[in-house]
Amino acid sequence: MSTPVRDLSTHLIHHPYLPPADFVAPQPGVFKASTVIFPNVVAMRTREWKDKSGYTYGLHGTPTTFILEERLCALEGGLQCLLVPSGLAAIANVALALLKTGDEVLIPDNAYGPNKTLAEGELKAFGITHRYYDALNPADLVEKISPQTRLVWVEAAGSCTLEFPDLPALVEICRAKGVISALDNTWGAGLAFRPFDFAGVPGARYGVDISMQALTKYPSGGGDVLMGSIITTDVALHMRLKLTHMRLGLGVSGNDTEMVLRSLPSIALRYGAHDASTRALAVWCTQCPEFAQVLHPALQNSPGHASWRALCGAQDASQDAALLGRAAGLFSVMLHSRYTRDQVDLFCDSLALFKLGYSWGGPMSLVVPYELAEMRTHWPAHLSRGHLVRFSIGLEAVADLQADLQQALQKAFH
Ligand SMILES: *Cc1c(COP(=O)(O)O)cnc(C)c1O
Repeated sequence: MSTPVRDLSTHLIHHPYLPPADFVAPQPGVFKASTVIFPNVVAMRTREWKDKSGYTYGLHGTPTTFILEERLCALEGGLQCLLVPSGLAAIANVALALLKTGDEVLIPDNAYGPNKTLAEGELKAFGITHRYYDALNPADLVEKISPQTRLVWVEAAGSCTLEFPDLPALVEICRAKGVISALDNTWGAGLAFRPFDFAGVPGARYGVDISMQALTKYPSGGGDVLMGSIITTDVALHMRLKLTHMRLGLGVSGNDTEMVLRSLPSIALRYGAHDASTRALAVWCTQCPEFAQVLHPALQNSPGHASWRALCGAQDASQDAALLGRAAGLFSVMLHSRYTRDQVDLFCDSLALFKLGYSWGGPMSLVVPYELAEMRTHWPAHLSRGHLVRFSIGLEAVADLQADLQQALQKAFH
């Protein structure tokens, strides 16, 4: 008896054609799946979701996500990687995996704002306490670590104000106290310094335990993808994070993964270009009388400059500091306190090339005015009183961006 002719829909769903296997192209294939097909029941029962030995379900990985994970490990010098739907999801995954009721987390006072908001919201509601420490003062971290402390966040440079901490010293303190250190490495992106060994810093014995990044920024590079990564070098720590990742269902899409894979080969070139333009503009801003302070770790007077030089490869102080080492494409200014907030708003509104918007790492330059008093427990002594404005420098020509700043300064303050 011949097989009955199948219905067209059935035939299209179960079509037998398989293309030849060894297709090779510059970019890896984009696999998309919730369901993964097993060849038999034994495979279904025995296949392991916890490592990269096979495939079980879309949430636990596809060839596409595995490839991005491995490439990000190479970028940051780590061994295991988790992908999550945003940078903030990476922060939440770390916190929820490592903290339980009665524990305490320490966060730098200049940390990425939503990290603090999570601590003040969900973590507090779960009975997890938090304290903020001064990232520029390692003694303050020593003093604040208690028997309840289970996790210490570090960030270099700090968000919005770009102070650069002595990262090896902070990590050494965590090690000595047996507390896990987690770095928000979005600024460094794996390019400004090596988070897991701090190679080249004299006396630095340890790197961080966990490095998370908002892939949303430089790894994406387009201002059009949200994704985060959590990288470790210890498989037991990775498994703790991965179990929470699995229970919370923090998968990423194949299409988004493809976009990051496409951008990753050019990340070092883009980072260098953003860096060079940013320093040129930051140096130019130091000559503008409207700014009481210009914050960029490569500037000699910027808080934590020596720590930045030590960690980010600018040890040779005899050369022009503006050209040494590596830094991301961000700088902030403190507009003089004599100006009104309306004038500062007018300055931001008058910029034509710099757009008002959050995030950074894409081709378009952005500007954000911040209310520092609402972001900190107190006004830091190392910051001038005034109005904080942060610039993220895109890939436009420096001369055009400088002219834009100049015309907006003229309009708002003269
Ligand atoms: C943007 C950012 C994040 C969060 O990334 P999202 O993908 O926007 O959630 C975390 N940390 C730092 C330092 C960031 O700049």
